Amino acid sequence: MTDVVDKETRSRIMSSIKGKDTKGEVFLGRALWKVGPRYNRRNYSGLPGKPDFVYLGLRAIVMFNGCFWHKHQCRICKQPASRKWKEKIDANRDRDRRNLKKLEEAGWRIFIVWECAVPPKGKASYEEVAGIIRGWVLGDAPNMQFSASDGLIELPAELEFQGDSRE
Ligand SMILES: [Zn+2]
Repeated sequence: MTDVVDKETRSRIMSSIKGKDTKGEVFLGRALWKVGPRYNRRNYSGLPGKPDFVYLGLRAIVMFNGCFWHKHQCRICKQPASRKWKEKIDANRDRDRRNLKKLEEAGWRIFIVWECAVPPKGKASYEEVAGIIRGWVLGDAPNMQFSASDGLIELPAELEFQGDSRE
């Protein structure tokens, strides 16, 4: 597959997309802030993988994951055609797993919201998701994830993302 921009430009574009807050993350952050309890850190570099929302006292972490970058094998996630990008995405997923494992071992609970669950692609409103997360943050349920394909489910113990078995 030929690209319309050169390699360097492509890398720059892709990394800038990845580094930035996505709209979904911003909307989720607002909704979480509104319903409370309020997170203490955003994109916290003090923990593996710079988690999006961190509740320090409650030892809970909420992450908003783009389906493409984090290789969620759902209907909205079109995997890249080129091998180079496929490898990059696989590397992202492996890094995610390692980070989640480290967080879990350090006693953090983790909640992942997948992009496909919320607008513009998904049906659940940000307020709805924030309400679910509120209950989770204040409770003692295990690691959970919320997506369009699986709804609200427990994150598997080995933190394999749902869908990997379909590969
Ligand atoms: Zn998805």
